[in-house]
Amino acid sequence: MEGLAAAAASRTGGQVNFMEVCGTHTMAIAASGMRRLFPKVLRMLSGPGCPVCVTSQGDIDRVLALAALPGVIITTFGDMMKVKGSKGLDLNSMRERGTDVRVVYSPLDAVAIAAAEPARQVVFIGVGFETTAPVIAGAVARAKKAGLKNFSSTAFFKLVPPALELLLSDPENRIHGFMLPGHVSAIIGLEPYRFVSKKYGVPCVVTGFEPLDILAGVNMLLKQVVSGHPSVEDEYFRAVREEGNPAALKLMAEVFEVCSASWRAIGTVKATGLEFSKAYASFDAVKRFKIPYSDAPEPKGCLCGKILLGKALPPDCPLFGRACSPSSAVGPCMVSSEGACAAWFKYGN
Ligand code: SF4
Repeated sequence: MEGLAAAAASRTGGQVNFMEVCGTHTMAIAASGMRRLFPKVLRMLSGPGCPVCVTSQGDIDRVLALAALPGVIITTFGDMMKVKGSKGLDLNSMRERGTDVRVVYSPLDAVAIAAAEPARQVVFIGVGFETTAPVIAGAVARAKKAGLKNFSSTAFFKLVPPALELLLSDPENRIHGFMLPGHVSAIIGLEPYRFVSKKYGVPCVVTGFEPLDILAGVNMLLKQVVSGHPSVEDEYFRAVREEGNPAALKLMAEVFEVCSASWRAIGTVKATGLEFSKAYASFDAVKRFKIPYSDAPEPKGCLCGKILLGKALPPDCPLFGRACSPSSAVGPCMVSSEGACAAWFKYGN
């Protein structure tokens, strides 16, 4: 890989920057220790791939506003428990004060809770990308079929291909290749990424999550840079098909539609997220409980936004490992088990 990286670096001005846009890749790279073994000219940046990290502070505040409603049961994946809102509260601290917050392993568990407790409103906190959206779509469709009037969900979903466009349309970006998430790609397939190589001339490789997958993905990206022929390749062909998962795509298209989404550090951007379709609008927790949105600043001193955009690494943050650690996290990149700061803190560089 050394020779290939040197050849690639000679085409990119001396430094090769690849970005993984997936928290699972971020953790896998850190846990395997391979960052230390990469050629010096190669740098892996962690992009906007951690679901909790990309959720805007304003949407986190809306989650906490839902939790503050009397009598409501909040159901969520564990990652959301410690993300602080703009007033310093999180779901964990609200639970300690008596709010009924339950960590579930599947949104179907939340539907089961709603069926078992018909007198109470049950809200599932839906955040994430095309990976989680179909699962939550399935749960909402099941709740509708069962006639459950006391189940709803947030739909703070983001879409990966528009996120890539956002990054690439920044004239300051220095991204020479994308390691694309295997699980998102198993849903959406390869076609939605083609514009990256065609319009921006940036190589893409859909990559699996084992260390060997990641090494193969990096190697394929380097080869594309050296050849000067960017394309979209599929290293994770054992799980990802050109057409993606038609059943999951159909379900998502039935329950959700494309909308503007508010991203941490980026702001609200048209056509980059998913909201409930008209047929399922009554399951939108934000609308059902009339929770307003207001912009809120990022935690003071936190560089999560810059890290998500590939403009900083966790050690660049003056709070990293000092005022901010997993036991006392300031920003979501340290809270989430898939966050870049958590990965660097746990495994080093
Ligand atoms: S170390 Fe903490 S404060 Fe700094 S960028 Fe990461 S999460 Fe934010």
